Amino acid sequence: MMSTARPSKTVPRPGDVPPAVMRHTAASIEKSHKTRVAALGCILCHELAQHQNGDTYLHHVRSDQGLSQRASDFLVIPLCHEHHQGASGIHGLGTRMFYTRYQLTELDLLAMVIGRLEGEL
Ligand SMILES: [Zn+2]
Ligand SMILES: [Zn+2]
Repeated sequence: MMSTARPSKTVPRPGDVPPAVMRHTAASIEKSHKTRVAALGCILCHELAQHQNGDTYLHHVRSDQGLSQRASDFLVIPLCHEHHQGASGIHGLGTRMFYTRYQLTELDLLAMVIGRLEGEL
């Protein structure tokens, strides 16, 4: 982990939150979000009513499109190894083939994740 944030030495104006503190807080919220997402287990296994084998990995949305090396940790999808890196997974198939096979985009999966976190699904 890259937890090298140091308290800012700049004096904040009254009512302002120091930038370093804001970043730290955002990082903490992202971390707790990732923990909650991972605890859901593979979203695709759930959708397909399959029993999940093995651990859960967090897939960053659009991570295969080179849009952002450091995508937000809020944009993560929990997937088992097979549905992540495996032959029937989002990296194994690529997002287009993945869609052809499951009729699901990364954003569909992300919506499911949010829905499950909110207890709606
Ligand atoms: Zn799975
Ligand atoms: Zn991934």
